[in-house]
Amino acid sequence: SVPMSSTPYTRYKDTMHAVVRKLKLSDAEKALFEEPQFIHKDTLKITKEDGSTLELPAFRVQFNNARGPFKGGIRFHPLADEDEVKALAALMAIKTAVVNIPFGGGKGGVQCNPKELTKGEVQEVARAYIRAFQDHIGPDIDCPAPDVNTNSAIMAWMRDEYEKQTNSYSPAMITGKPLSYGGSIGRDTATARGGFFILQEMMDREALDPGELTVVIQGFGNAGAHMAHFLHDAGYTVVAVSDSQGGVYSSEGIDPVRIQKYKGKTGSVAGEYCEGSVCDIDRMKMDNVKHITNEEILELPCDILIPAALDNVITAKNADKVQAKYILELANGPTTPEADAILEKKGVHVIPDVLANAGGVTVSYFEWTQGRSGEQWTEEQVDSELKRVILEGYKAVRREARREQVSYRHAAFSVGLKRMLAAMRVRGWL
Ligand code: GLU
Repeated sequence: SVPMSSTPYTRYKDTMHAVVRKLKLSDAEKALFEEPQFIHKDTLKITKEDGSTLELPAFRVQFNNARGPFKGGIRFHPLADEDEVKALAALMAIKTAVVNIPFGGGKGGVQCNPKELTKGEVQEVARAYIRAFQDHIGPDIDCPAPDVNTNSAIMAWMRDEYEKQTNSYSPAMITGKPLSYGGSIGRDTATARGGFFILQEMMDREALDPGELTVVIQGFGNAGAHMAHFLHDAGYTVVAVSDSQGGVYSSEGIDPVRIQKYKGKTGSVAGEYCEGSVCDIDRMKMDNVKHITNEEILELPCDILIPAALDNVITAKNADKVQAKYILELANGPTTPEADAILEKKGVHVIPDVLANAGGVTVSYFEWTQGRSGEQWTEEQVDSELKRVILEGYKAVRREARREQVSYRHAAFSVGLKRMLAAMRVRGWL
């Protein structure tokens, strides 16, 4: 029963309901996954440098904390609204349970376009966000982190504002901080690194050789760009990459180092060749690349497709045209439930967001423990612990998928919901 027009939260509920039915949960059990425990909203009033004022809707959704403090990023995006933040908070609760780290799930959002703000104005938004929600946040209560359009600089401003407002020393109140202010080695690469470990494990198991595998990556932010480098270095052929402006494709493969340089110089991955839709065809021929849109990139011939940008990109409209055999979801919510059904029929293997991108929150957990103990982990420690934790999650999902004969998404939800239920049961919430 897919709703006529779905939203991020109805898409979450669709998958959750399917798994609740499969697990034969009672109505009382099901009710625990229907709505978040708390929804906090406010309006941030920001004075711009030109003297004008902005009123920005802001949210912190606390979905479930049965397994530990609420945990999840904060995004700055024009489309961030209550429905989307609710869905992302629910996915966080399942994600932390799938990798079995002692956190619940939450998410934050500010409805704004940071690309139209100065650095100083972004800092104002960050500090205003903390002032609005400081009573609901804390190292043992709810611990935010970066997400779409937020980064370590923003986490530093947020920690600074929190410590000033609460007159405390609170390195563990937020993760994804800069190395010079309580951050962890490896947090910046962690989302991609975790996805990479899962992919390597799967390809190994199927005796597939990276040298013979082609990859397409949609999105060149923190997750997508680092993933391009890891895969290229491991011998995979990255045939296409894109960002919000569009992308480039070459069946011969592209060098992520070069693309990174172009993006640094021109602001977009295709910027060396194209401005808008006007491209330097001779130059593109010379480099053997073609310009592609963000819709086209999903339909390219390849072995592995990695959506690493926004949600709702693989839908009933294009799922049938996906040519990849594997989809690794580094983005949150890129595939709709309707698309899932189409892909399953086609035999496309989807490694879902709540498993594939859990490396980020896993290293956030390492950062949180370092903040609480005052210890500093080495790069080797972070890397080997991340590998252990994420592959444990992968194996739990694989076992569940085999046993129940369901997709990896349904298996991951199943593992996550059961672990949440176990905690809620012993706590007496049921
Ligand atoms: N925003 C990331 C996610 O969606 C990381 C969250 C965190 O580290 O708490 O998983």
